[in-house]
Amino acid sequence: MHKDNLFAPLRPKTVLGIAAHPDDLDFGASGTMAWFAKQGAKVHYLIITDGSKGTDDLKVSPKELIKIRQTEQRAAVKAVGGKSVSFLNYPDSMLEVTMDLKRDIVRIIRSVKPDVVITMDPSMLYSANRGFINHPDHRAAGQAALDAVFPLARDHLSFPELLKDGYLPHKTKTVLLINFDQSNFYVDISETLTNKLSALKAHASQIPDMDEIFGFVKDISRRAGRKANFQFAESFVRIDVR
Ligand SMILES: [Zn+2]
Repeated sequence: MHKDNLFAPLRPKTVLGIAAHPDDLDFGASGTMAWFAKQGAKVHYLIITDGSKGTDDLKVSPKELIKIRQTEQRAAVKAVGGKSVSFLNYPDSMLEVTMDLKRDIVRIIRSVKPDVVITMDPSMLYSANRGFINHPDHRAAGQAALDAVFPLARDHLSFPELLKDGYLPHKTKTVLLINFDQSNFYVDISETLTNKLSALKAHASQIPDMDEIFGFVKDISRRAGRKANFQFAESFVRIDVR
C-alpha cells in the first residue's frame, strides 16, 4: 500500500451520499460512487436542498430551476450506476443544522442502511490558498450528516417517533468526507473517470464550459492518483467508526 493511502480498499454493499446541492456529490465523489456500483454496491444519493439559487440567469424561476436540477441529478445518478436519489427540498443557501434536518437524514440512513456514508467535510470553512469560502450549505449538510450517523441513527432512543414508524437503529461503519485540502484515503477511479465525466455532463445548468471542467477534473484526479499510485483517484478523509 502506498504510504499516503492509510487504509485498505473498501468493498461496501450499500453506499449513501449525502450533500447539500445537486452536483456536489458528482464533483466530489462520483468516480468513487461509480467504482462502488461497478463492484456491486447499491449506491444512493440524498440531496438536502432544492438547488433553487444556483443560477446567474435572471430569466429562470426558482421553480423551474428546482425541476431542471433534479432532472440533472437523476441523470447523473444513472451515469454512476446508482440506485436511487432522494430530495429533501430545504431552501437553497439557507440550510441550518437543526434537529428536523437531522431527523430527516436519520430516516434515510435507517431505511437505506449504508455501510459507507459519503458527505462533505463540515470542518472545511474556507481555503485561503485556493481563495474560496466553503458554501454554508455544504458545511451544514456535512455537520447534520455526521450527527445523524453518530450517534442519532445508531441509538434507538434518539427519535423514538422514527422507531415507532419502523425505522430501526443503524450503525454506519465508515464515513468518507469530501475535503479538497486534506485526505488520508484515495479511491482508484481510473476505470470510472468516464462515469464521473458523464455525471458532471448531466449538470449542464451548473457548468457553462464543460471542456474546461473536464480538463480541471482530469487534472485534479491525476494529481490525487499520484499520491496513491493510481492513474486517477478521488481523495477523502476516511473515518472507520468504532
Ligand atoms: Zn454545492
